[in-house]
Amino acid sequence: MSSTVIGVDQRLRDQAITACCLAAAALGDPDLAARRKGSALMSCLGVLTSAYPVGRAPTMAQFRCGLRRPLRELLPDDFDLAGVGDLVLLDEEGQFSDEARDLCLEHLVPSAALEEHWPWAKVATEQEERRIYEVLRRLPSKEYTRARELLVEMPSGDLRKLRRTWDGLWGRIDHYEPIVEWTWCQIRGWWFACPMCRWPMRVVDRGTVVEVRCEAHARSGVIYTCHADGTADRAPILQPVGPRASEVKGQPATQEARAVSRVIWRYVTLPGILERDLRDHARGVGAEVDMWPHKDRYDLRITLGRKVWRVDAKAWASPVALGEALRDTEPAEPGLIIVIPDHQRASRGLLADMLRGAGYRVMTATDLKNDIDKAAEAWR
Ligand SMILES: [Zn+2]
Repeated sequence: MSSTVIGVDQRLRDQAITACCLAAAALGDPDLAARRKGSALMSCLGVLTSAYPVGRAPTMAQFRCGLRRPLRELLPDDFDLAGVGDLVLLDEEGQFSDEARDLCLEHLVPSAALEEHWPWAKVATEQEERRIYEVLRRLPSKEYTRARELLVEMPSGDLRKLRRTWDGLWGRIDHYEPIVEWTWCQIRGWWFACPMCRWPMRVVDRGTVVEVRCEAHARSGVIYTCHADGTADRAPILQPVGPRASEVKGQPATQEARAVSRVIWRYVTLPGILERDLRDHARGVGAEVDMWPHKDRYDLRITLGRKVWRVDAKAWASPVALGEALRDTEPAEPGLIIVIPDHQRASRGLLADMLRGAGYRVMTATDLKNDIDKAAEAWR
């Protein structure tokens, strides 16, 4: 992420998005007292109002209602919202939606009016992401690669096993947190790792039957249901609902159960899974693949005959925020390919437009695989 000079329009827009996200987070927080909710909503509406011409801003009732509708309906018509306009901040249960949380961090613009209400200011994505890369960068090349691999392969696990696997690197990379402190992923003291990314899945309260789903992979079908009642001494049994919901066993949320922080999961683990998938595909058709050839300058170098692809995989929730972060940075290599997940296909054009002239190419994972396949056929 870059810290760049932000245009006035962009800042107004990001402030308005920040205000809407914060209002939704406050409204969706079951532990927040009604009085504090009210005062957070007032501050947020104040910030949103300043983005509108006089007399055109939504009323408090419209504001509250709008948080459950596509974001574009809450913001002025002339805002450039491509990519995030469809996002609904509060889900059907009135909870702050998972994607909104990340969107929020990516568009985060601190403002004095919101400061006292802002719960995540301390864990601003950028800072935490930067911190992990600083730690990683200090490692010698081989250990750097090993650490990146482990953050992808073991985003959660038992402390003893983590220590054993990380071995000499443990202690230098201390980015695992006790799952026992994360109530959002537990049923009666048990937690469940996503079969696709191995990070704790979210438990969504729907009464006697709860839903368990991976924030990133629910859209691919990692969704289960589970009876909320029962005793704590036996692991709750998950019933698969989605097509990718393979069998998952509950694990006790003890002090020893650890997982990487949410920021590492989103910005290191998730793109890492995409990178691994691309690597396996490319190797499958006979290409040579180097992972993180120059530490974090870029992620993958794929070589097939005389053709070379240099790739950076990104799994940001907001393609617009990604585009803005990249727009003012020089690509690490000319023609660096930014690969986004297939589900963001609709935003590929937008991202390419934003990065026009900046020296990047934008592809979805499938685009890149097709490109590699085509080259492989020609090469044979
Ligand atoms: Zn997952």
